[in-house]
Amino acid sequence: MSSTSPNLYIISSVAGGGKSTIISRILAIHPEFYFSISCTTRAPRPGDIPGVTYYFLTVGEFKKKIEEDQFYEWASVHGNYYGTLKDPIHKAISEKKVVLLDLDVQGAKTVKALRPESVSIFIQPPSRDIWIERLIKRGTDSEESIERRITNGISELEQASSFDYVVVNDDLDRATEEVKSIIQSEGSPSSSSKVLP
Ligand code: 5GP
Repeated sequence: MSSTSPNLYIISSVAGGGKSTIISRILAIHPEFYFSISCTTRAPRPGDIPGVTYYFLTVGEFKKKIEEDQFYEWASVHGNYYGTLKDPIHKAISEKKVVLLDLDVQGAKTVKALRPESVSIFIQPPSRDIWIERLIKRGTDSEESIERRITNGISELEQASSFDYVVVNDDLDRATEEVKSIIQSEGSPSSSSKVLP
């Protein structure tokens, strides 16, 4: 990959949009990519592995990291705090690794403002009804949490057009392939020459 290629890829979606599955499939194919493990104050869900899917912190621990300016970005999402640690991101960027960030829409905006050359991708469910059905069927959230995720998701869906790319997740294989091609084409020397004078 050329040194002028964008190496920061922000992947956002609504809860239950399929983003985590797409990211894990891409990482399985590209283990050399760097996935940024976020900190969160939400409780672990079945399938979560501390230190792998997230760093699980208490609210006090999270606030201490805010005070110590340890976050690249952080946001309050669905009633919990989520944040990306600065040091590992800076290290991965300086090593020219392809960095994948799984962020909510607020976090995506913050990172895009910090690094306009980053590439933002929004994973969109094929329809509102299918999305709500998937979110309920996922069975990982309480009724109250699902309601909050639907309310927040409706406003997040309205912001999809502010992303560089919108990928419709009508089929997981196809959507994963599309995200992979975006990373390949954005990272190729011919695409990076777009931004050269
Ligand atoms: P979940 O609790 O379902 O894993 O994630 C909830 C939301 O938080 C998702 O939209 C996810 O992308 C977002 N998220 C995860 N990590 C971070 C982070 O470090 N910063 C921000 N802003 N959002 C995050």
